Amino acid sequence: MALTNNPMAEPYKIKMVEPVKITTKEYREKVAKEAGYNTFLLRSEDVYIDLLTDSGTNAMSEYQWAGMMLGDEAYAGSKNYYFLENAMYECFGYKHLVPTHQGRGAENLVSQTLIKPGQYVPGNMYFTTTRAHQELQGGNFVDVIVDAAHDPYNTDPFKGNVDLQKFEDLIKKVGAENIAYITVGVTVNLAGGQPVSMANLKATGELARKHGIKVILDATRAMENAYYIKVRENGYENKSVKEILKEMCSHTDGATCSGKKDFHTNIGGFAACNDDEMALKMRNMVVLYEGLQTYGGMAGRDMEAMARGMLESCQDHVMAHRIAQSEYLGNKLIAAGIPIVLPIGGHGVFIDALKFYPHIPQEQYTAQSLANDLYVHAGVRSVERGTVSAGRNKDTGEEIRPKLETVRLAIPRRVYTQSHFDVVAEAVIDLYKNRDQARGLKMVYEPKYLRFFQARFEKL
Ligand SMILES: *Cc1c(COP(=O)(O)O)cnc(C)c1O
Repeated sequence: MALTNNPMAEPYKIKMVEPVKITTKEYREKVAKEAGYNTFLLRSEDVYIDLLTDSGTNAMSEYQWAGMMLGDEAYAGSKNYYFLENAMYECFGYKHLVPTHQGRGAENLVSQTLIKPGQYVPGNMYFTTTRAHQELQGGNFVDVIVDAAHDPYNTDPFKGNVDLQKFEDLIKKVGAENIAYITVGVTVNLAGGQPVSMANLKATGELARKHGIKVILDATRAMENAYYIKVRENGYENKSVKEILKEMCSHTDGATCSGKKDFHTNIGGFAACNDDEMALKMRNMVVLYEGLQTYGGMAGRDMEAMARGMLESCQDHVMAHRIAQSEYLGNKLIAAGIPIVLPIGGHGVFIDALKFYPHIPQEQYTAQSLANDLYVHAGVRSVERGTVSAGRNKDTGEEIRPKLETVRLAIPRRVYTQSHFDVVAEAVIDLYKNRDQARGLKMVYEPKYLRFFQARFEKL
């Protein structure tokens, strides 16, 4: 099928371009300060290469754009909803779909439906919005990911796996009736985009089922995870991403999903499940928070674009290219001796800030400092995934100091070219050579919820 065996070669050509602004270092120093040294507070037009996130920053295809013109904007029963329902069933196989405006809308519905205050919610490492919704509902998040996930240099191919012993110990300790459900993230964003193996998903599902506990997949990057299973797990090399994805979901009871990642869209999300009663509850609640159960906060055209993107990205060669881009950037950094989380993640490259800036302690927000320095140096925007993102312990109020203090270079889908990645790599390498000059930060404004989005800092 392939004309080339280089998956880095784009399986698309460019039809429309968006010019970007070139700025000076003095200008970037000024705007970074104005933004409180928080890359979330920069203006997009001041950024040259934007690797803040791969969420909603994707380029849509002509097939998706054409679908936008077919939006059925009826308040109820839009035909785009039914197309989306079919696409979701074709790719994921869940019986019920509840559309939401984005992933966190689905997390809200699932948390409210399944968590009773005081219950425990284990998960394979936390994700910011997922945990926040669980805690808002009175749930207690418990990390049950394998230890390897917390070690940036452990090269286990499935570092996202659930540690079955930790899960079982929790069941023994608190009792299955006090566990709301288990969240399994595929891939695990904050561990560096690390996948979960099929064997682990199956075993997790079996253990949970034995105790009557539901498994809820965070399916946000499930297609990337399916691709990793194809190339890394024995017995899957001849199966398609689509077949693997369906098999993954068969070990779970439902899912929350951000449509802004793997589906090549700019907005959207859904909750899904097999249980009729759970679906009924979520459908009742969605009208309160998102919109009617046949649009969930999305315009008809957005549902159409998401459905089409879902079908497109569920193809082997699309995922092969996606993963090849992050590996290209990651391998350039590795070759220059830059400490990054291994194996290289699917949706981005994660720099180990504590090794990069060994003289800046975590109390001075090592990764936040590095993210800012990268912007000022080269106009490249990245994001902190360390102490600022981890927030505070909800009982003691103390800052959590995660073992992984990283800067994530997230890769939007179909947006940047090889030369852009070369620029990013050169900038990171330059900073590393001059790392002695870097200084830490102190936080001068801390919002109550998801503080990393709006916190402000000053240079020490
Ligand atoms: C982005 C993301 C979410 C939340 O989705 P939104 O669409 O941003 O609300 C949940 N889980 C993971 C793993 C994500 O990356």
